[in-house]
Amino acid sequence: MSLKAALAGNPNCGKTTLFNALTGSSQYVGNWPGVTVEKIEGRLKTDKNIILTDLPGIYSLSPYTDDEVVSRNYLIREKPDLIINIIDASNLERNLYLTTQLAELGIPMILALNMTDIVRKNGDIIDVQKLSKHLGCPAVEISALKGTGLKQLTDTVQTALRERPIPTPPLFPQPLEKALSSVWDQKDFPQPPLFSRWLSVKILEGDRKIAEILPIPDEQKTKTAQSARILEKKYGDDIESLISAERYKTIENMLRDCYKRKIRDITVSDRVDSIVTNRWLSLPIFAVIMFSVYFISVTTVGSVATDWTNDVFFGEWIIPGLRNLMESAGTAPWAVSLTVDGIVGGVGAVLGFLPQMFILFLMLSFLEDCGYMTRVAFIMNRFFKKFGLSGKSFIPLLISSGCGVPGIMATKTIENEQNRRMTVITATFIPCGAKLPVIALISGAALGGAWWAAPAVYFTGIAAVACTGIILKKTKPFEGITAPFVMELPPYHWPAPRNLLIHVWERCRSFIVKAGTVIFLACTLIWFLSSFGFDETGFGMTSVEKSLLARTGSILAPLFIPLGFGNWEAAVATVTGLAAKENIVGTFGVLLNRGESGEIDAGLLTAVMNLFPSKAAAFSFLMFNILCAPCFAAIGAIRKQMGNPKWTIFAVAYQTLFAYTVSLIIYQFGRVISGEALSVGTLAAAAAVIVFIYALVRNPETEKRLFSRSRQ
Ligand code: GDP
Ligand code: MG
Repeated sequence: MSLKAALAGNPNCGKTTLFNALTGSSQYVGNWPGVTVEKIEGRLKTDKNIILTDLPGIYSLSPYTDDEVVSRNYLIREKPDLIINIIDASNLERNLYLTTQLAELGIPMILALNMTDIVRKNGDIIDVQKLSKHLGCPAVEISALKGTGLKQLTDTVQTALRERPIPTPPLFPQPLEKALSSVWDQKDFPQPPLFSRWLSVKILEGDRKIAEILPIPDEQKTKTAQSARILEKKYGDDIESLISAERYKTIENMLRDCYKRKIRDITVSDRVDSIVTNRWLSLPIFAVIMFSVYFISVTTVGSVATDWTNDVFFGEWIIPGLRNLMESAGTAPWAVSLTVDGIVGGVGAVLGFLPQMFILFLMLSFLEDCGYMTRVAFIMNRFFKKFGLSGKSFIPLLISSGCGVPGIMATKTIENEQNRRMTVITATFIPCGAKLPVIALISGAALGGAWWAAPAVYFTGIAAVACTGIILKKTKPFEGITAPFVMELPPYHWPAPRNLLIHVWERCRSFIVKAGTVIFLACTLIWFLSSFGFDETGFGMTSVEKSLLARTGSILAPLFIPLGFGNWEAAVATVTGLAAKENIVGTFGVLLNRGESGEIDAGLLTAVMNLFPSKAAAFSFLMFNILCAPCFAAIGAIRKQMGNPKWTIFAVAYQTLFAYTVSLIIYQFGRVISGEALSVGTLAAAAAVIVFIYALVRNPETEKRLFSRSRQ
């Protein structure tokens, strides 16, 4: 029989790092709270009989958000054989608050004091023996990151699974204890053996969700509520605060006995933070850093590698080589075309962007893991609070720069429903990894490798989030108060290269897997649709202009004429992008080979450049595809988080409309700037700008007043 051990602890205390170290898996570690929002299971490397569960981080067992509910429900319903309470030892007081609650559950428990490398560096001393005595359960000092103390920890886990040490819950003052002991009426309602102390506390606190789980007789409920009111009167505070204050008192007493904190000078971390989070410098510094990240990965280092892969490796070696080989072996022409033009052309075009992706993710992971991105959330909180947006939304947004799906899932940590919806809607405005090939291709091809293009896409994404926040916040379904957001800044540290590489590899791997599956299928389909069609001789292989794809694409294309890319190729690429954004590149790859059969010198870049009449049209195409409805996987995640189809449709419709408006403005004004004549399109764009500005600056209160006056 397998034994179950659950990792429980505050957000960002190193649960996942420990989980990975103990199970040998490679779950995502991020240096900010709220990364693990679903529980994850794995078996211990040293003992396959023990199943370890990584739970979402929680500050307490009174859940306020969805991820906290996940953890609490797991502990109560699954009743693990052992809780490993992992604690950020450099932040004992706050972390022990959860410990005092876990200790009430009556489940065997051990403490893993993590981050002891930081404790040591700070010069603090923890008397582990004494702490363990206070809490009535074994405690081990570890550093999940450095890998110290792990052997002792697994030994302790094994012993604890045998000996089942039940921790000592904190003792409250007499009157509180008396009230607690009268929560259960033994005659009518025998108390459950496990969890009884914790449940008593929860019932006394009047926790509604507990009342839903346990069928407590009404009479009993009234009695408990009465004794709670009496206590509240006596102490002049509400019952929840009373109990929480008592917990902190217990912790204080405990720490006085077993913790020596060294008086500290200002650390390097503090000094860096005083610059990086400075009121005036923080935003420019952020802009410069992100600009460099996108510039380096898309335009400089990354692009050299990618150009070589696309033009030389695939363009000169693989594609012509394979074609010659197959032709000389007497393969049927259609099979040669399917393999070379369709599959290698399409999938290869996508894979060619792997070097850029690798460099982008390496830099993003570094910024994330060293602690800088947490500062960004903090800075953005200050900035966006002015518009009524929560800083908590920035964590999902930052995750979305890797992939929108986990980004959307991470919105679970946002308590406020309006803010959560808003974040779900805006998360995919931030360009994800799959959009990188599109950005790189368009900026490299049609924009002549412009240095500004890739960073501009990223910043437009952020601006789109901000504008959406401002616009929607002024509408009825989104109005409301933004919850205050308290954020801790963990000290900076050098990321472990292993962690960085795991993270980058995970991303690149899923990109390669996608190229071999979704994109492979899509390219095959595109090849088929672009090779077959009806012509004078009936249905069969035909030129690309007469293909099924060109004909269906031409039906859609007029929709995009106002945006400057009303050709069927661009329209088709936009649609295939819904399956996966890389498909946009794959589609161009297939079409290029189909169109140019035999002509080797014109690479992917030239062919794509020829599709767009001007730079404005190309940039408009790029922005539309970044901002419009995301891929199906992300739409699925939106559906899951919104929990109903109405909001899902709203989200996708809003995104697409927003994208259309932005692209219309870009293209139409771009035309005028480059000296072309005004047209109906220009008028429409001007109208769009006016509506957009109005939506940003309008004051709903004033409108309400005007409206009610005009009715009188
Ligand atoms: P979780 O949110 O509890 O799952 O925490 P993570 O495992 O994602 O870790 C949060 C951050 O703390 C990451 O940047 C880790 O690299 C870092 N970290 C984890 N364990 C240690 C440790 O023992 N020492 C130090 N210095 N950092 C650690
Ligand atoms: Mg985690």
